This record gives sequence, C-alpha cells and structure tokens, in this order.
Amino acid sequence: MAGIHPYQRTGAESERMTMQTYTMTNEFHGTTATVRVADDGTISKDAYRRARRKLCGISGCRCFGSSASGKSVLPLLQAEDTGDGRVRLNFDA
Ligand SMILES: [Zn+2]
Repeated sequence: MAGIHPYQRTGAESERMTMQTYTMTNEFHGTTATVRVADDGTISKDAYRRARRKLCGISGCRCFGSSASGKSVLPLLQAEDTGDGRVRLNFDA
C-alpha cells in the first residue's frame, strides 16, 4: 500500500542559517565583490567563483598574490574547500 508520507523537516530546514554580507575590495583594480556568508563562515562555491572573477577576471594576473590587492580579499584567497560544495573563508588571515 502506497501511503502518503508525512512531511518531515530536514536538518537543513530546522537549522536555518543567518547570512551576513561581506564586501571585499581589490585595491589593485578598484573592483569590489559582496558575498553572503553563513554563520559558519562559508559561502557557496558558485559565490566563491563569482567573487574571484569579479575582483580580478584577468587570466595570468598576479594581483591576488601581492599586497597591492589589499587585506579585505585575503579571507577569499585563503579560503578552504569544505568538501560539501561550500568554501570556508579564512577571516583569521
Ligand atoms: Zn588582477
């Protein structure tokens, strides 16, 4: 007998995360990118890629490796892959 399964709350829905925005400025190019950061300091991989491209879309450009890009981009540059489709920003950088 196929019954109607009662709706069950998943962990993801019951632990709703609050988001904070973090804006970075690449001082070398004068570009900015804003990301929505979850409580645990992570952003989605898509947001990570978009932010990096927005801050510097020039292939071969080395601005990120130099201090010229400024301190606010460091959490993005030193972010680590959490292995579940998200990236954790390193705000201690
Ligand atoms: Zn650049």
